[in-house]
Amino acid sequence: MTQSYLSSNDTICAISSANGTGAIALVRLTGQKAIEILNRIFVPSRRETSTGDFQFNKAIFGKIFIDGELLDEVIVTAFQNPYSYSGQDLVEISCHGSIYIQQQLIELLISNGARLAQPGEFTFRAFMNGKMDLSQAEAVADLIASNSETSHKMALKQMKGGFSGKISELRARLVHFASMIELELDFSEEDVEFANREDLKNLLTNINTEINKLRSSFSLGNVMKQGIPVAIAGKPNVGKSTLLNAILSEERALVSEIPGTTRDAIEDTININGINFRFIDTAGLRHTNDTIESMGIERTYEKLNQAWIVLYVFDITDITVDEIEDALTEIRNQLDDPSKTIILIGNKTDMLTESPHVFKHLVDLEAIFISAKRDENINLIAERLLDAVQLNQLTDQTIVYNMRHFEALNQASVSIGDITAGFEQGIPSDLIAIDIKQALHHLGTITGEITNEEILNSIFGRFCIGK
Ligand code: GDP
Repeated sequence: MTQSYLSSNDTICAISSANGTGAIALVRLTGQKAIEILNRIFVPSRRETSTGDFQFNKAIFGKIFIDGELLDEVIVTAFQNPYSYSGQDLVEISCHGSIYIQQQLIELLISNGARLAQPGEFTFRAFMNGKMDLSQAEAVADLIASNSETSHKMALKQMKGGFSGKISELRARLVHFASMIELELDFSEEDVEFANREDLKNLLTNINTEINKLRSSFSLGNVMKQGIPVAIAGKPNVGKSTLLNAILSEERALVSEIPGTTRDAIEDTININGINFRFIDTAGLRHTNDTIESMGIERTYEKLNQAWIVLYVFDITDITVDEIEDALTEIRNQLDDPSKTIILIGNKTDMLTESPHVFKHLVDLEAIFISAKRDENINLIAERLLDAVQLNQLTDQTIVYNMRHFEALNQASVSIGDITAGFEQGIPSDLIAIDIKQALHHLGTITGEITNEEILNSIFGRFCIGK
């Protein structure tokens, strides 16, 4: 990075729409000279708007000329500080989407005194101007990157301040706590206790509970972001790979039906009704004979333990109910959480026409019967996966999904532990005050009340240019 984010006096510009040619492109300009620069390059089609007093919050049609030559007809919307995304005067120019026009327009803005924005610099200014705190700014990047309904919901919630509100509340409680202790320090000669020790301990316990709740939501947040882990288990040759392919290709077909959507890498993640499911690479997923029977059993169970949901696949032409029940018992015995959802899948129903009798004894099982090879009933699996997770339950609570926030919460938790221990050991109030400051510091790094350039660079550097 060539320039510090901390210099926000320049007027900056960038192409905010996606790279390449589109029908329309959006060029943004923000800073003290945004309107001045706009007035130099833009001729509104209605005369009264060209007198210098620019009309804000209105879409204005007009022309952009370079050295007297028309470059493009555009729509301009301008927002006056502080009522803009960045908190400064901000101009958005919608031009035609040719790469040539976009480049010429940017060069024109630069030759009139703007400079090219760094990644995330518009959002950085929003942060500097108090439009949003740091965790909200991070959520903007997450919102742009979100690729499923759940990750979208989580980012949106954080952007709207749900998480910041929680952190600010915790900080406020700690500040109150600190002020009581400080008061005691002021009157230390007189040996008074302003802060009732029991009340303080309760307060600490409450704060710690809240912090721990947030910390424990992190694994959930990660799962939501990366996909709910699903493992496919079963004996060799029951059709696990065929099933995975069937599941993935269904998704592929669905996605490619929507114009303009492409997916570079399908990998083993699929999106069902807005929720990402990530298929864990149990050995059985790949074409090998490693499965529960033949591979390092420990490794398979490790994978099954990582999964939230296990699909147990069996070949209906080659199994008895007892065998299935034994396999289930064996799996449950090995799982850390024996109540984990295991979905039974009876595969190869297409073989029934040849030998319908083999199936009779299985019909009472609570299983989904499919033909992976013929792609039959695969949608039933999707339904069962969705039933197993219940989206609303997952997204109603405040979820921490950002590693930086998680680490700050961990450190805050350590400081809270130190304060509690300090009380128990009867440590003097002035030392306790230091631990409280530490806890406040860690919580403050989440919202950006406490920050440094390195943190800012790493956060805003993740953004695209123009946001
Ligand atoms: P895995 O070892 O469990 O991964 O099993 P595979 O997916 O490799 O399948 C083993 C064999 O069963 C292959 O020959 C598949 O073509 C076949 N197979 C898989 N699914 C079906 C199915 O639904 N019906 C039939 N008739 N054969 C299937």
